[in-house]
Amino acid sequence: MLSVKGGVFAGIYEVSDGVYRFKAYAAGEWVSGREFTKVRSPIDLSVIAEVPRLSWEEVDRVLDRVYRVGRWRIRDTPGWRRLEILERIADLMEQYKDDLVNALVVNGGKTRSQAVGEVEASIDRLRRADLDARKIFGEYAPGDWDPTTLETEAIVRREPYGVVLAIVPFNYPLFDAVSKFAYSAVAGNAVIVKPPSADPIPILLFAKLVEEAGFPRESFAVLTVPGAESDRLVADERVHVISFTGSSSTGKRVLATAGIKQFIMELGGGDPAIVLADADLDFAADRVAAGIYSYAGQRCDAIKLVLVERPIYEEFVGRLVDRLAKVRVGDPRDPDTMMGPLIDPSAADEMMGAVEDALSKGGRLLVGGRRLGPTYVEPALIEVRDKGALRQMKLYREEVFAPVALVTDFSTEEEAVELANGRKYGLDAAIFGWDMDRIRRLTRLLEFGAIYINDMPRHGVGYYPFGGRKESGIGREGIAYSVEYVSAYKTIVFNFRGRGVWKYE
Ligand code: NAP
Repeated sequence: MLSVKGGVFAGIYEVSDGVYRFKAYAAGEWVSGREFTKVRSPIDLSVIAEVPRLSWEEVDRVLDRVYRVGRWRIRDTPGWRRLEILERIADLMEQYKDDLVNALVVNGGKTRSQAVGEVEASIDRLRRADLDARKIFGEYAPGDWDPTTLETEAIVRREPYGVVLAIVPFNYPLFDAVSKFAYSAVAGNAVIVKPPSADPIPILLFAKLVEEAGFPRESFAVLTVPGAESDRLVADERVHVISFTGSSSTGKRVLATAGIKQFIMELGGGDPAIVLADADLDFAADRVAAGIYSYAGQRCDAIKLVLVERPIYEEFVGRLVDRLAKVRVGDPRDPDTMMGPLIDPSAADEMMGAVEDALSKGGRLLVGGRRLGPTYVEPALIEVRDKGALRQMKLYREEVFAPVALVTDFSTEEEAVELANGRKYGLDAAIFGWDMDRIRRLTRLLEFGAIYINDMPRHGVGYYPFGGRKESGIGREGIAYSVEYVSAYKTIVFNFRGRGVWKYE
């Protein structure tokens, strides 16, 4: 089912019995392993590939090469040339787009249009690294504001930290790897990517294009190490920055293991949508429905809680149910499919368990919620009018990475804010309506990293920065924003005392 056509990829895999056995990119060489991890397609759970399960000795060798050689090579590549290489990678991604799209469909279970969207966003991200470049600058600090620093001055510059470890989740494997690579590399860092075990193939294809584009060989690696065996990599002192995207629980473990480093942590989410009485109901129902079911709810910015103002509650919920009932679930390769599978059967188990939990606590299933196969489910909406019960539900307390949301009503803005802020996550929120005074008031009180007015939350290419508060994370992902976290301040103080440069009064 996986089919890699581009000749450029020939050296990075072998095929036996229809299964692709990939190599990992070890900072300049493609290495196989002694042990392999099976990669399955969520479409039918068939094994489509194997990737090396790298041992610590192999990882250690790569870390050594990246640390000793790679971090200096990328740093000594002039900025204009770094940008030129990123452009060249983008060109190659366009050239081999079909292979990348196919890998995202077959390995990630994305529909074709979602896969095309992810590849195009990745290409765009690389091309907009010129905007990152304009944010990598320093400051001049005069010394005469304090008697102790008279006749001195400083420049405060930013320079690359060295080695960035990019840990990537399964839901946007290509885009997240590309985005972390782009901002880290444009700032002059070497990058080691740890891909998700569920769908590493798009990242391995990307690695080949990075190599082909002439990126310094020792400055980039893709290490196929299972997350459960990544503690030593995370804790290693040769890693200066960790840019992690994944669940809050894994994020906590990474923070506890890593020691003193620089972090960007993009963690769990699941967003509330607040629908005000003057909202355009059809438009809001369309966008909220898409926020619930797109990529089967496996998006950090998926809508998981719908708060509807009481006067329009019945009317709006009817329209939302109508939209969700029409979602065509099936094989993502079928052009009519609107929602494909979940990443693996345990994700469907988790959704079923969370639906049951909500129903046992007084929730009412308004639409969907049936399991259609090991990885296939119907998108579901559960109504809970009792706010006390709502707060006890797993779907309110945790992020359930599946197409299911809770819906309830509210009568005051304070109540809506309290319910939205009451979850432990603070990634994004959406507000639908036109009364700008009310919307302005709500945006002031909502504790979220981003608020979308009259749209579903969607991070897209990161043209607008995003990132969480509370358990949703630390730092920001976004063009011209993330460079701040992968470059270190260095203050250089010039002492001219007694040299007659300044003549103070
Ligand atoms: P995950 O299970 O937390 O895994 C994320 C990555 O961490 C994977 O590469 C995983 O590797 C690795 N990992 C697991 N244990 C590790 C450890 N002990 N040390 C180092 N790395 C480890 O998350 P996921 O299920 O792939 O992704 C979904 C989650 O990501 C959701 O919670 C979603 O909200 C979040 N997310 C957040 C954002 C955002 O912008 N805030 C964006 C996208 C996704 P293995 O696959 O090998 O286990």
